[in-house]
Amino acid sequence: MVYISRFQTGQPVMAINPMLKQGVGMTSQRTRDRLVERLKEKGIRHPEVLRAIRETPRHLFVDEALSHRAYEDDALPISNGQTISQPYIVARMTEVLLEDGIPDKVLEIGTGSGYQAAILAAIVPRVFSVERIRALLVQAKQRFRQLKLNNIMAKHSDGSWGWSQSAPFDAIIVTAAPEVVPQELLDQLAEGGRMVIPVGKGRDIQELQYIKRTPEGFETRTLEAVSFVPFCAGKV
Ligand code: SAH
Repeated sequence: MVYISRFQTGQPVMAINPMLKQGVGMTSQRTRDRLVERLKEKGIRHPEVLRAIRETPRHLFVDEALSHRAYEDDALPISNGQTISQPYIVARMTEVLLEDGIPDKVLEIGTGSGYQAAILAAIVPRVFSVERIRALLVQAKQRFRQLKLNNIMAKHSDGSWGWSQSAPFDAIIVTAAPEVVPQELLDQLAEGGRMVIPVGKGRDIQELQYIKRTPEGFETRTLEAVSFVPFCAGKV
């Protein structure tokens, strides 16, 4: 047996760590890579989704006090009683939207921290995102500017109305749960377009639905049980 000392196999202690450029310790690229591995184990396959998660600094989308938990596969609180979705759910919903190829124009309802929009923006040409809580929207827009995500348009509005001036959309993703799918959103889906949306009353009884618009109407497929914050009317 050849014995190799740990000084020969270990990282050189004084070497300049390239990861320092991207954050240290719990926010480093290596931590992000581990999250990607965990998502693969949970069944996420789409290479573009995995790449987007690998490249997007989730710790910049949560409060600094929580940044050490940003690469755990958990939902985390953001301000105003809202949450940044669990990375697995972000990845899963994005993967579902890409099933029939990369959509050109995507509408998101519920900007929140901006993380889901940032993941989409790393994959699709144009993202439109709507948030009803002004304070969250302002913060998310700052993050988009900081990360030079110039292909995201975001506005303060009640997402029940979609974004009619920019409709129709090839894909719509809703990240808060209404009791029924808003008709305006169905109307703003292009033919051949798809929507992924959690639907249900109360946090524990929502199901994720995939809705596709065909020349004949809408086809709905139920995916899995999920737990999102409620979809609320009006803006604040
Ligand atoms: N996609 C977000 C998830 C945030 S939680 C992220 O990646 O962080 C869901 C968000 O939906 C909350 O910020 C909530 O304020 C917002 N929301 C709820 N109902 C809404 C509505 N009718 N119109 C727009 N945003 C809504």
